[in-house]
Amino acid sequence: MRWSGVTTELNKLVPKKVNILSWRAELGKIPTRSVLRIKNINIGSLTCKLCDKAEETIDHLFTACQMSTYYLWSKIESWCKLPPLFAFSFRDLMVFHNSLVATKLRKELVLSVLQMTVWCIWKARNDAMFRQHRIIKEKMVDDVKMLS
Ligand SMILES: [Zn+2]
Repeated sequence: MRWSGVTTELNKLVPKKVNILSWRAELGKIPTRSVLRIKNINIGSLTCKLCDKAEETIDHLFTACQMSTYYLWSKIESWCKLPPLFAFSFRDLMVFHNSLVATKLRKELVLSVLQMTVWCIWKARNDAMFRQHRIIKEKMVDDVKMLS
């Protein structure tokens, strides 16, 4: 099953809510600060809650933010023994597994880990934004490993 315009496959190895987050993110339909601004919802600062350095867009949050790129994705690469994960857009993340020379099962498992990482990034962002939780990058890696 696919949503129109979405390349992300339905992944039976992850919970439905995780697939839905991936699909919505690929469609640009998760409420980042830049999306809320476009909808004229006043949210004050547009700055990313994870790094405090750039505008919070979907691509920034998952592929350019210091927290996701320089820390989380590199930990995931070494944990899963993956080649360097070059992603310039959210869609790049969701098709990365197709570039691997691997069995179908391994590709599905890699996609699962990437989707769970996206889930953990979004959850950490929401916890920081709405519950004033401090971002603990080591905890994000532990959460991905525990959920995957
Ligand atoms: Zn950031």
